[in-house]
Amino acid sequence: MTEKGLDLWPVIVALVQFGDRHVYPGRAPVLLVHNGCGGAVSDHRMCETCGAKLGPRDVEAGRGIGGGMVAASAGV
Ligand SMILES: [Zn+2]
Repeated sequence: MTEKGLDLWPVIVALVQFGDRHVYPGRAPVLLVHNGCGGAVSDHRMCETCGAKLGPRDVEAGRGIGGGMVAASAGV
């Protein structure tokens, strides 16, 4: 990942979490998890299980409950 990509990571996490909260409540299409323990990523980019501060290389994305093709309106 480039330096530009690394700098975008906080923005990407915020956008994913915004979508999970406001567009796909209860059916997040992508789950961000700590690759060290599998814990969820908090709003402050910390692991909710082990408390580690997470950077882009500490997180992996997995398919969430709504991970199929989704036709939805953001309603914003
Ligand atoms: Zn963890």
